[in-house]
Amino acid sequence: MSDDALSHDPAELRKRIDTTKAHPARVYDVFLGGKDNYPVDRAAAAAALAANPRGYLDVRHNRDFLRRAVNRLAKEDGIRQFLDIGTGLPTGENVHQIAQRINPDSRVVYVDNDPVVLAHARALLTSGPQGRTDYIDADLKSPDRILEQAAKTLDFDQPVALVLVAILHFVEDEEAYQIVRELMDALPSGSRLVLSHLTEDLNPENIRAVQRTYTERGFTFVLRSKDEVARFFTDTPGLTADEPGVVPVHHWHQDGAAPVPEAVDPAYLATLDDIEK
Ligand code: SAH
Repeated sequence: MSDDALSHDPAELRKRIDTTKAHPARVYDVFLGGKDNYPVDRAAAAAALAANPRGYLDVRHNRDFLRRAVNRLAKEDGIRQFLDIGTGLPTGENVHQIAQRINPDSRVVYVDNDPVVLAHARALLTSGPQGRTDYIDADLKSPDRILEQAAKTLDFDQPVALVLVAILHFVEDEEAYQIVRELMDALPSGSRLVLSHLTEDLNPENIRAVQRTYTERGFTFVLRSKDEVARFFTDTPGLTADEPGVVPVHHWHQDGAAPVPEAVDPAYLATLDDIEK
């Protein structure tokens, strides 16, 4: 790999992992039923779920949107390069596995700023022989650094899909728009933007309550309306939103391949209750 992320000293990495405070990647992992999280993260997930019992389902819808978007871009548009910022902890199906199943020569660069994601990055670096993957330990707020490092793996003369799925909540106000513009400006014509964002347009009381549970725990958590999300597309020269435009993630090109549970798994809720007591 081009980055030296994996050569980090495990002891150094452990020092960067704060287990006293909930972290977004780990809370998201709790929602997906993962094991790479700490009691503080499980408590944060339990609080968010108390505020919005649908959260468990929403997160699965979001992850399935990511799967469908990568699948569709790879299959229908022949996109072979992905820059996935805010990757999250590895799951069963990461972007490169989805893309390389369709186009084995696909190249994927993953970016996250969480040391726990870095510690698990090996699972993201399992490219097939014809493709390539890389992991960059970086902050979305440093787009220059991301682009410079990503250029070691991606060919910026060929279209790239910029994947910003459930990450822009962590960047406030205009800075989020500037970052998206700066990243898209560096990509050639034919490039794509894949984006999802939590909104208070639907279910506002519950979603605002979720936001409070996160901000109380010290993380920035911005909600954006449909129009504010659409602005990420209209603000960037040359970019237009494909059909069907900005819609709830589970309405976007459903393929019915991964039905999501209709109710929260009671066994899962019991696990969170144990943590709370
Ligand atoms: N994109 C994945 C995971 C979303 S969870 C999915 O939708 O399934 C949000 C991820 O963004 C977490 O892994 C978190 O660590 C990461 N993140 C949050 N703020 C970030 C920042 N400023 N720079 C890089 N990554 C960030």
